[in-house]
Amino acid sequence: MTVIATTQPRAALTEEARAELSALLGDRFTTSLPVREHHGKDESYHTPFPPDGVAFANSTEEVSAIVKICAKHKLPIIPFGTGTSLEGGIAALAGGITIDLSGMQQILRVSPEDLDVTVQAGVTRKQLNEHLRDTGLFFPIDPGANASLGGMSATRASGTNAVRYGTMRENVLGLTVVLADGRVIKTGGRARKSAAGYDLTRLFVGSEGTLGIITEVTLKLYGIPEAISSAVCAFPTIKGAVDTVIQTIQVGVPVARIELLDEVQIDAVNKYSKLDYAVAPTLFFEFHGTEAGVKEQAEMVAAIAAEHGGMEFAWATRPEDRSKLWQARHDAYYAALALRPGSKGWPTDVCVPISRLADCILETKQDLAGSNMLAPMVGHVGDGNFHLVYVLDPENPAELAEAQRLADKMVTRALEMGGTCTGEHGIGYGKMAFLEQETGEAFNVMGDLKRAFDPDNLLNPGKVVRV
Ligand SMILES: Cc1cc2nc3c(=O)[nH]c(=O)nc-3n(C[C@H](O)[C@H](O)[C@H](O)COP(=O)(O)OP(=O)(O)OC[C@H]3O[C@@H](n4cnc5c(N)ncnc54)[C@H](O)[C@@H]3O)c2cc1C
Repeated sequence: MTVIATTQPRAALTEEARAELSALLGDRFTTSLPVREHHGKDESYHTPFPPDGVAFANSTEEVSAIVKICAKHKLPIIPFGTGTSLEGGIAALAGGITIDLSGMQQILRVSPEDLDVTVQAGVTRKQLNEHLRDTGLFFPIDPGANASLGGMSATRASGTNAVRYGTMRENVLGLTVVLADGRVIKTGGRARKSAAGYDLTRLFVGSEGTLGIITEVTLKLYGIPEAISSAVCAFPTIKGAVDTVIQTIQVGVPVARIELLDEVQIDAVNKYSKLDYAVAPTLFFEFHGTEAGVKEQAEMVAAIAAEHGGMEFAWATRPEDRSKLWQARHDAYYAALALRPGSKGWPTDVCVPISRLADCILETKQDLAGSNMLAPMVGHVGDGNFHLVYVLDPENPAELAEAQRLADKMVTRALEMGGTCTGEHGIGYGKMAFLEQETGEAFNVMGDLKRAFDPDNLLNPGKVVRV
């Protein structure tokens, strides 16, 4: 299974198209090389593919107008949020125009009484939570990067809180979307449930810019819990840590976060974030609820951990200590890269049913033991989701080949266990072959859907599905 970084047939940015985009946007349309290069490169080892121009949009109407110009001139269109994707999602494989939505920063409405909010697509998750700070509400989905809510919707992102609050799939109520011909539609709405027709919201969530451009997102919000407590617990073996997770989930403790870092990743985090955790497989926990509820959850989990060899829980109850702990977890990717200066990361994630998590992780660790790759492991393990980051020299073909071999094995194993080739990073072009392996005939149906929404294959071509 090889990662195909093929360029598609390249569409030319004609003088006429360039003039129309400039007339619409002024200096918010640019063909400057550094700006194009920035927009063709994500946060992983994938080869960058700069677009031919970048259009900075400020409103749904502007996105629609840009798309109409691109449709007229048959120019590919690549939506861009903050560019933190990890599977080549923003690469302009066929050239064309990147639409940067990061200027769409308005929080359009907050309804505390209904626990929902509508934002423009460029609002980031941290910006939203800053805005909500005095309302007693928060938005829980937290990928390690401060990604845009449009990008997070487009990749069906999740993070450390998903075990309790779900992923973008569960938390997007409605969308405004610009289609490939420039039409603007609204999907879903503010009702908490609806049996009204096809669920287009869930079709666009996770479509990675291949079916439409998300310009506004309506999201669920949650009350900040009365009590929050975080803890760190090291284990003598990774099996002990993973068995603790499995039992915690199986007995139904409603943990808010339960994250695994293996000994390689803990060493990296210690060095990068100047911490001094024991260098051993470690679980990071967080409990949300009432004072009594949090105490009860913590006692149950501590007892389960002790059965599996867990050491003392190191508690963080003050907000600043909790922030430090979770910031260190969110910085895990950069901590891994810092182990080898000048390296790039090949991050890959799989997700399996919780009962298979220990087997999947232990067999993957065995593969690593037989290889010389540096590959720290982290996981949103409460969901059955874990990641490896191969820390490599992208100029070294032997390292790339070895990472590919190990990644293939991990995904194949996860699929055999009833899992998926990506729990959260998405497909981009990096995992297209795995998506086909996972979904079989349904992969062709996805291609049919793509053709129905985007007959000229202009929206983020070369990603997710083969057309
Ligand atoms: C350090 C680090 C940690 C991470 N941790 C996590 C994690 O825990 N969980 C997780 O899920 N992901 C994680 N990621 C991956 C990444 O942050 C997510 O995929 C995120 O959702 C991407 O958002 P973005 O705004 O950066 O989108 P971009 O990278 O700009 O775009 C991602 C994809 O969505 C498309 N897109 C972007 N905006 C729109 C839009 N408005 N409409 C339609 N399509 C659009 C793009 O074309 C592209 O295909 C991590 C990345 C890094 C670098």
